[in-house]
Amino acid sequence: MNDRLHSSADTPSGDASDQAAISAKKAEKIAYENNKLHKRLCRQVGQAIGDFNMIEDGDKVMVCLSGGKDSYALLDILLTLRERAPIHFDIVAVNLDQKQPNFPADVLPAYLEKIGVPYHIENQDTYSIVKRVVPEGKTTCALCSRLRRGILYRVATELGATKVALGHHRDDILETFFLNMFFAGKLKGMPPKLQSDDGKQIVIRPLAYVKEADLIRYAEVKQFPIIPCDLCGSQENLQRKQIKGLMREWEKKFPGRVDNIFSSLSTVVPSHLMDRDLFGFTALQATGEADANGDIAFDEEPCSTGASQPADNAFGSQIISLFPAD
Ligand code: SF4
Repeated sequence: MNDRLHSSADTPSGDASDQAAISAKKAEKIAYENNKLHKRLCRQVGQAIGDFNMIEDGDKVMVCLSGGKDSYALLDILLTLRERAPIHFDIVAVNLDQKQPNFPADVLPAYLEKIGVPYHIENQDTYSIVKRVVPEGKTTCALCSRLRRGILYRVATELGATKVALGHHRDDILETFFLNMFFAGKLKGMPPKLQSDDGKQIVIRPLAYVKEADLIRYAEVKQFPIIPCDLCGSQENLQRKQIKGLMREWEKKFPGRVDNIFSSLSTVVPSHLMDRDLFGFTALQATGEADANGDIAFDEEPCSTGASQPADNAFGSQIISLFPAD
């Protein structure tokens, strides 16, 4: 008989305690990873707010809540940061109920009541307008977004909001950048902060530094009551989907490439592009002074680290010191 086959660990109670120990270790690891994710999101959002001076003392920030993972995360992280920020700002959550079929109108109010956030639900049947105006088979998103935007800006003014916060993240910004480059021939992305097109609001995107993959995980961790985004029956933009696929493939084959592309959006050298409105090529004369940004005839291999700049205002610095990198 082989004695080693009869250790106490092999008894039924030994198995059970082994299993319990393994489960406890697993739960500990998951809790550790979740906490790390939360800290990372707080740090990245705090840094973006600081870098672009998105939120100032006394602001009233209107958080546009669609019921998707991104806007839930945006609200959640802003609430955390507000408790630790060196400034005071108010938050009001706003959802536009576009009267899409089967929209569960009670989900967001119930969630917002539970977490104690002031909110406003704006009821506007843009769904019927879009269905009536856009011919069958044509994409409805352009008109739908235009209508939504106008309504949200109006609501922001009515609520006295000084900032309108949207849940676009790093991947949205990159996809928009490539869509504009590939299909509109423009170097144009989605800015972290800009005046609205009616000139009345400042629109901010505090998730600008956050990867979509992190938001997907965060939504699972927090169990946000997600409202599906296909209630309108519209298909996801095919070109955007292709760009998403392209970025996924790059990330797999060339880790770090997408980070470098993102970093390049904040490291623009107008004299090395071709926009005559951005750089005075036509009037250019040699100054006789050495210029590190001057032409070196043949470029060296770029070797960007993709590192972002440290935050340069009180908000960003305080948040980064509270949620340091691991
Ligand atoms: S997916 Fe539907 S709800 Fe979203 S912008 Fe397009 S039409 Fe509007």
